[in-house]
Amino acid sequence: RRVSSDLGVVEPGVITGEFQKELKKHNLMYAPDPASLKFCTIGGNVAECAGGPSAIKYGVTKDSIIGLEVVLANGEILTTGSRTEKGVVGYDLTRLFIGAEGTLGIITKIITRLLPLPEYKETFLLVSTSLQKATELVAIILQQNILPCTLEYMDRTAINIVSDLLPKPPAKDVQAMLIIEIDGSKQQVTEQSQRLKLLTAGQKHCTLQQATTEQEIKEIWKARRSISAASYKISPNKTSEDVVVPRSLIPELVHFCEKLSKDLDIRILTFGHAGDGNIHVNIMAADSSAQETTKAKEAKSALFHKVISLNGSLSGEHGVGITKSPYIHLELSKTSIMVMRQIKQLFDPNNILNPGKIFPDKDPTESSTPL
Ligand SMILES: Cc1cc2nc3c(=O)[nH]c(=O)nc-3n(C[C@H](O)[C@H](O)[C@H](O)COP(=O)(O)OP(=O)(O)OC[C@H]3O[C@@H](n4cnc5c(N)ncnc54)[C@H](O)[C@@H]3O)c2cc1C
Repeated sequence: RRVSSDLGVVEPGVITGEFQKELKKHNLMYAPDPASLKFCTIGGNVAECAGGPSAIKYGVTKDSIIGLEVVLANGEILTTGSRTEKGVVGYDLTRLFIGAEGTLGIITKIITRLLPLPEYKETFLLVSTSLQKATELVAIILQQNILPCTLEYMDRTAINIVSDLLPKPPAKDVQAMLIIEIDGSKQQVTEQSQRLKLLTAGQKHCTLQQATTEQEIKEIWKARRSISAASYKISPNKTSEDVVVPRSLIPELVHFCEKLSKDLDIRILTFGHAGDGNIHVNIMAADSSAQETTKAKEAKSALFHKVISLNGSLSGEHGVGITKSPYIHLELSKTSIMVMRQIKQLFDPNNILNPGKIFPDKDPTESSTPL
């Protein structure tokens, strides 16, 4: 692991959080911060194009990677990108491998962009009695020229499962929370925080609580990062989706999820990176019975159709893998899928790299749409 002032050279097995800790010692930052950062690897992040709370301001993994070393299926070593901030000689092969889910080659070296560590940061918890109004605020905050480095959201079910970890137990009428962080120079942060306070002071449904100690900040993040694991306690059979919609349509999406939950009589929990419209929708089957499994599949299909109707995307960061492959035709045209299959064929003619991922075995448009 080598660190220069603006580029990092990292092996793929490095734990993302460890890389960030190391950089902090040099007053530097590698921005992508998936909630799994304590245990996920930077190689996995590149393969999935991971995002995190800071993506709203600093982008996702592909925005922080400028070059790769990749071992191809035939054993040849390919070096992509440049070692400079800019470089447009030839096709952008770096981006082709980022988010390819390990289907095109094995990444063996990663060149990252590094940023100076922001001088100052303030953390707020916005507590709201209205799910709709809290989610409407997401787009409004950005329209007010406030650019947070975190704008995360949790619904009531998500709050309930991690309430023990929060600095204060939430009141009974709380329906949603936003975690908002602003970073930059002290002057920038003070000015942006002031705007946020003014904006929320006029809203009856919410209160804005500022975290004043490191301990409180730690507790807020511990709660946020524990939602995914804690939700298995309610439903070990949950299906976890990470759909994306335009920010201004998050209220419509969460309203749809609430209605879907009632209509199908299945619990649905929503939380996630609201700042970039990336909502984790957890469909919580009560058990593994055929009836519950069918309901969960129905909910997933209805969710995906709704997301596409909102000009959204089926996955913001988790990728297609195996479970979403039967649905990619909802988002991608026949031509896109054909071109992607040809790329796969070119890089991996014997289909030895993560076979079965991304592409369905057969064309789903030729049979009935999966439930
Ligand atoms: C609690 C929890 C929270 C999460 N939060 C987030 C989040 O906030 N944002 C987010 O984006 N994701 C999140 N994830 C999903 C997951 O952590 C990310 O997708 C992460 O990027 C995967 O890294 P990993 O090391 O776990 O990879 P793995 O799961 O080991 O691998 C993921 C894929 O990448 C491929 N791969 C791994 N290394 C390489 C390599 N060197 N070359 C080629 N292919 C490779 C693997 O074959 C596999 O297909 C979360 C997961 C959990 C469990």
